[in-house]
Amino acid sequence: MATGELNFESGSTLFAELILPVPIPKLFTYRVPAAFNEKVKIGQRAIIQFGHKKILTGVVAAIHTQPPKEYEAKYILDLLDESEVVTAYQFMLYQWMADYYMCTVGEVFSAALPSGLKLSSESMVQLNPSFRPDDSSFDFSEKEQVLIHHLQSDTLSYSDIAKLLGAKTIYSLLKSLSSKGAIILYEQVKEKYRPKTEKYIRLTDEYTIKKNLESLFEELAAKPKQEAVVLKYLQDVPVLTHSELNSKGVARTTFIKGDISESSLSTLIKNKVFEEVEVIVPRFGFADEATDHPVLLSEKQEISRNEILAGFENQGIALLHGVTGSGKTEIYIDLIRKALEGGSQVLYLLPEIALSTQIVHRLKKIFGSAMGVYHSKFSDSERVEVWNGVLQGKFKFVVGVRSSVFLPFDNLGLIIVDEEHDSSYKQYDPAPRYHARDVAMVMGKQHHAKVLLGSATPSLESFYHAGQGHYGLVVLTDRFGEAQLPDIRFANMLLEKKRKTNKGEFSSLLLKEIMETIALKEQVILFQNRRGYSPMIQCQDCAWIPKCINCAVSLTYHQYRHAMICHYCGYREELPKECPTCSSKRIQTLGYGTEKLEEELKLNFPEAIIQRMDLDTTRTKGGYETILQEFENGKTDILVGTQMVTKGLDFDRVNLVGVFDADRMMHFPDFRSHERAFQLIMQVSGRAGRRVKKGRVIIQTSNPDHPLFSFVVNHDVPGFVKDQTNDRQIHFYPPFSRLIEITIKHPDRNACHTCAARFFEAVRVRLSGIKIMGPGEPVISKIRNEYLMTLLLKIARDRGRLGEIKAVLGEIGDQINQVKEFRSVRIVFDVDPV
Ligand code: ADP
Ligand code: ZN
Ligand code: ZN
Repeated sequence: MATGELNFESGSTLFAELILPVPIPKLFTYRVPAAFNEKVKIGQRAIIQFGHKKILTGVVAAIHTQPPKEYEAKYILDLLDESEVVTAYQFMLYQWMADYYMCTVGEVFSAALPSGLKLSSESMVQLNPSFRPDDSSFDFSEKEQVLIHHLQSDTLSYSDIAKLLGAKTIYSLLKSLSSKGAIILYEQVKEKYRPKTEKYIRLTDEYTIKKNLESLFEELAAKPKQEAVVLKYLQDVPVLTHSELNSKGVARTTFIKGDISESSLSTLIKNKVFEEVEVIVPRFGFADEATDHPVLLSEKQEISRNEILAGFENQGIALLHGVTGSGKTEIYIDLIRKALEGGSQVLYLLPEIALSTQIVHRLKKIFGSAMGVYHSKFSDSERVEVWNGVLQGKFKFVVGVRSSVFLPFDNLGLIIVDEEHDSSYKQYDPAPRYHARDVAMVMGKQHHAKVLLGSATPSLESFYHAGQGHYGLVVLTDRFGEAQLPDIRFANMLLEKKRKTNKGEFSSLLLKEIMETIALKEQVILFQNRRGYSPMIQCQDCAWIPKCINCAVSLTYHQYRHAMICHYCGYREELPKECPTCSSKRIQTLGYGTEKLEEELKLNFPEAIIQRMDLDTTRTKGGYETILQEFENGKTDILVGTQMVTKGLDFDRVNLVGVFDADRMMHFPDFRSHERAFQLIMQVSGRAGRRVKKGRVIIQTSNPDHPLFSFVVNHDVPGFVKDQTNDRQIHFYPPFSRLIEITIKHPDRNACHTCAARFFEAVRVRLSGIKIMGPGEPVISKIRNEYLMTLLLKIARDRGRLGEIKAVLGEIGDQINQVKEFRSVRIVFDVDPV
């Protein structure tokens, strides 16, 4: 599909194929009103009516002259844009994603467009023009009268009315008024995005002339406050020497500071000395100009950079395996600059938690206003601004999380996927269940752009492809400068507990190390991949364990919220005072999370400043930033947290890292659990000793002799990868096979199990020769009151059949859903699950 000139005979009736954000796998035909014949373009947004009630925003995917056969097409209500908001590249990419990840293009669009680019319809209320309050034979309640009174001067929205009447539900009131013929309800379509504006002040034209200014000062001689305002303005904006600066002016809020009087300014505006203008301003509060120069690459970094360029030349894709602190980011910066100088766009992908203010500031200082940031924590309006900035060429460079693959690039030259092994690149729910690293590869092909994957612990998949010669492999084994990789040691928790040398969850070894570290005013990071106080509570007498009423999991105890909470659905309960089955008061906690560690730390190190960083402490906007800021400034001695502490942090004084519960990470029942545990431990270890002093890492485990740990101690990534790759080959897991996971969901356990069995049977018959595992209950077999069953297909890496297999799976799903009692069974496909 391509945008471009379309030539239809003048006067012909046009139809548009629209992509709509609905999970129905087809395009929808609408008729183009003749008035729009000249204006309509592929990639524009159109407003249409869908069904009887809904107003939706669609995107024009094709324009033609064939009316639909089965039905009469409805008219497009309006076109929203002068030019396209979606580029030809995006159409291709979104179509590919829909095909590959087994969902509809509408679902891809729905995930792709920030909701600020979609429309909402808001219900509006107006007075019925034929309604005469005085002649009406009906009685009106007091509230109704108030509303009628207000509607006489204005149309109001539902939310206006709710506010006006101070009532939450106004539905029955409106129904009553409507039945009495007093009001009319209608839908008003609204664009959600509103540009942000700010009030600026500037001198009126008259006073940009020197002579007039001089006489103004004479007039103001007796009005020192007003004089001060004018003087301050001339100081900020040197109008006499640079008159062009006056047209921009200064923001009113920043101008009114110190002893500048607000009322004097207002008087001056009234007297037409100043004028006030409304200016559209960006929502991003960064300093705009680039202020820093990039560093000079070290000799080793330069060699790596050149090897990457060679990989780009030969394979188009390079994998940079560089240990933590080797300067990967500096190499990226160098490559990004070159690509931008060559005139192309650059996309730099980072996992959600690695995209911290630290890295953003580092990049912003170098790339200034050419750089856009796309983060899921941003508001919709902010995201729309980045989207439009890319479209209009303002942002040549975007650093962002996985969803930035959706942005409207049309000329990418370089895509960097940092921490390429990170599982947060995969979207689990809802569709499209895509993997941003893999999508980035497809984008690379589309745009003829180079792709760079980087990590200190690359995924087995990427190593494998590099080994096969598909990617150029570049290895950087040394940290930058004096820094060395940290020393890694183990605390044997089994022994410590036997000898009673531990204190709570802390080994004596770790306690001693923490003490020494904070005594030297150095910092400590402690990693426990579990939030809350303890993941389970149990009655010591009858073994009762509180479980979620909606999910098949135990409730996590959160001490500071005095509650037990389900981490899957949010259900909460108070902590029982006694066991509900045997009335025993002996209730104990089992296992531990970050909250409990924090509590024990406070007991052991009462003088130390301790901060906790996990989902619970970073919910508020800026919560994450504040914690990191305080850590960076040295206010905090010990930072304890979940995965959030493992990535991307680059601090001078962290010389000790502690890892808790390593065993649990390793033994999670999943074929990737060893790989995950290894990556996490290596990543968090990489936070220690990033400058002059050699850092130390203590790993607490019951089994220090586990083979995985020997790779960890020796920082032996290739050895680990080789070992694991063998395993994968033996069990026919990726990278040797491709996986498609099928999840069957239904509130009724029987229906769920029956459908899973049917699905299995159908696959066996129709796709003989394909390995299928299951059906079986996943680790958590019920979430939000839906029972789950999964099937797993293992498919040889032979591209030819993949499309065919997916088509058959789709058909099997449809056939099951056509059976009456299984109509509401949900069948979810996950291609390349992680
Ligand atoms: P990585 O991304 O591989 O973990 P970074 O790029 O964060 O490593 O580099 C680690 C630290 O070393 C950073 O503080 C970085 O600024 C510094 N650094 C790396 N290379 C250079 C260089 N060539 N000149 C000066 N400082 C460097
Ligand atoms: Zn009990
Ligand atoms: Zn739950």
